[in-house]
Amino acid sequence: MSTPHQTTLTFLGTSTATPDLGSDTASFLINNKYLVDTGWCSVTNLRNLGINPSDLEYVFFTHFHHDHYLSLPSLLFYLISKKSLSNVTFIGPVDDLEPVIQRALDFLQAKRFWKDLQFPKLVPLTPGESYETDQFKITTCPTLHPVQGLCYRFYDHLSGKEFSFTGDTAYFPPIIEHVKGTPLLIHEASVGAAAANPENNSYLHSGAVDAAKIAKLAEVGQLMLIHGPLGKASECVKAASDIFPNPVIWPEERKPYIL
Ligand SMILES: [Zn+2]
Ligand SMILES: [Zn+2]
Repeated sequence: MSTPHQTTLTFLGTSTATPDLGSDTASFLINNKYLVDTGWCSVTNLRNLGINPSDLEYVFFTHFHHDHYLSLPSLLFYLISKKSLSNVTFIGPVDDLEPVIQRALDFLQAKRFWKDLQFPKLVPLTPGESYETDQFKITTCPTLHPVQGLCYRFYDHLSGKEFSFTGDTAYFPPIIEHVKGTPLLIHEASVGAAAANPENNSYLHSGAVDAAKIAKLAEVGQLMLIHGPLGKASECVKAASDIFPNPVIWPEERKPYIL
């Protein structure tokens, strides 16, 4: 568990959209209190780590493709059952945050079963908007993806640590300025080691080479690659390391990284 003045990241999953067996798609925890994207199995992933989902304070969404919010209904059901839904604030892209939460509640038949349920606290963000929590200053910029996405930069007031993560995106130069100089950049590498081929990238993802170019131009301290097939993780790390001179890793799932 993290102490109050540390910033700790724990990846619940680093797999591609359909996760490898025993893994989950891209999803991680900040200080065991903030969840970034739900993956397929957030409640089970959290409980397996000894974390009570009711202790979450924020759930951040990078964007609303299915693999990033698939376990939202089970998470909402857990929180409603434990009477802790009001503990959690949901933050995500303005285009989709409220409609997706509403549809998840409709799927759970919320009106039928919990007549007095308060709608969850939401913070919809337009790419470029900022937000402050007790601990973090959070800034965002747009991604290049088929749906509205947020590339986040977090500054921890308590520990002084800083990191950024892209969510899903094709190679997108505006991200360079936004993540400039962060000690850690977490970038997707959905298409594997090579750069995405613009002729064949209708889902607008990146390869490890694209991520490494962004990391290099942004002069970040370290690059973490996530959201690809785990069998290609070491190939991705090698391809990125050929371009980006600082450390590159594919983080281990369920292992806390203290920044
Ligand atoms: Zn994805
Ligand atoms: Zn996506």
